[in-house]
Amino acid sequence: MALLEVHDLDVEYLVGDSIVRAVRNVFFTLDEGKNLGIVGESGCGKTTVAKAIMRLLPRNGRVAGGRVVFEGRDILRLEDAQMRSLRWEKLSTIPQSAMNTLDPVYRVGDQLCESILTHRRIPRSKAWKRSVELAELVGLEGKRLANYPHQLSGGMKQRFAIAMALSLDPSLIIADEPTTALDVITQDRILAKIKELQEGLRFAMIYISHDIGVIAEVCDAMMVMYAGRIVEYGITRELFADTYHPYTLGLKNAFPSIQADRRLISIPGFPPSLVGIADEGCMFRPRCPFAIEGCGTRVPPMAEVRPGHWVACLRTDDVGLLREAAQEQATWLESAVI
Ligand code: ATP
Ligand code: MG
Repeated sequence: MALLEVHDLDVEYLVGDSIVRAVRNVFFTLDEGKNLGIVGESGCGKTTVAKAIMRLLPRNGRVAGGRVVFEGRDILRLEDAQMRSLRWEKLSTIPQSAMNTLDPVYRVGDQLCESILTHRRIPRSKAWKRSVELAELVGLEGKRLANYPHQLSGGMKQRFAIAMALSLDPSLIIADEPTTALDVITQDRILAKIKELQEGLRFAMIYISHDIGVIAEVCDAMMVMYAGRIVEYGITRELFADTYHPYTLGLKNAFPSIQADRRLISIPGFPPSLVGIADEGCMFRPRCPFAIEGCGTRVPPMAEVRPGHWVACLRTDDVGLLREAAQEQATWLESAVI
């Protein structure tokens, strides 16, 4: 049995009188101790997937359809109290900009202790001891627990956010852009620490990033999202070796760290706003240099191009051609055909 199965997840936000269909038909499975990367540009729905799984959507957000099965139970149907005990105990999160969520008026050690004591009936001295262990686990000295957040660097605060997520020994951690706000060197160190912790503690992880290079480094499987939908999903190694979707090809170009000999080519334009969008074909079409007429008439169905490798594109048969052309800057500079 998979640790987590997500089936046909749809999430909406209500904004005034309009509906933002932020996540559509998202599906994936995650086994114990494994990790899945979710990648895509800003606004494509990554955080919304994370919040829906944690049942931490804001008040104007709701799951409009689908199932989230964690350890065999559909957690969308659990009572609030049942969900509260599951959250942090079994599945925890390092939220986006986690380092800014530490309360400035409390010592970080007290915050860590509180998060343990909320769930465990143990004496405070024991919770403090566990907090020291956790601080050391994430590479901080125990004495840092006595600091207030403003006394810590961004990297240290982020390490505390990771310690907080680890505090109850969860089986799944959802890390939402855990290193994005940090400088490159600190980012690398934190990433190395997360990988080391995962190898030691064997928790499963959903790792969210807009940087496909980071995902390539960390994740067994990956999902590329665009405008709320999956466009490509599969084993990371296979997906990199045999990329099918034009958007994934574009993202690979835009992060040359994964193809060292190549210069950076960005995808012109921006993802669409999702307010009141209609299902009139592929959402990537206006930016896609490979769009053909059919792309405008219906949403491309998800096709399994090989076992476990899913792609939503009408041009999978021409992929050899697409891959070659995608390496040329001129391809991306010309406007899309349609
Ligand atoms: P980023 O990389 O910027 O964090 P993301 O991929 O995490 O982006 P989401 O934050 O999930 O994207 O947003 C998906 C869509 O839902 C966007 O169009 C966004 O504007 C919209 N959205 C997110 N949160 C809300 C909200 N609270 N109310 C209304 N719309 C929202
Ligand atoms: Mg986000």
